[in-house]
Amino acid sequence: MSGRRDFLRRGGQTMLVVLAAPGVLAACGSDGPDCAQASAAEQAERAAAHYVAHTTSGTRNCTNCTFFTDHGAATCGACSMNLGAVSPLGVCDRFAARA
Ligand code: SF4
Repeated sequence: MSGRRDFLRRGGQTMLVVLAAPGVLAACGSDGPDCAQASAAEQAERAAAHYVAHTTSGTRNCTNCTFFTDHGAATCGACSMNLGAVSPLGVCDRFAARA
């Protein structure tokens, strides 16, 4: 096999291994970024507000909440209701639609 072809094949195999690594696909999947890390206080707030990391609602989600600071669809944003870094696709009982 040619050196170039072998090099390209190995590169493709390496990419598959990297993409299949735990967390990589979850962080980039259609469910939004993985924003599971939170302090104990933030976890308590999440539980009290019934936060879910992914909602199927197209409008009632963190992206459209007045308490959300968007940092991009592929990363976690900030919730000013002390729920920590939350997913743009998440939602909780404290949702308030942006004006
Ligand atoms: S209050 Fe709830 S819906 Fe609004 S940004 Fe925070 S977690 Fe999302």
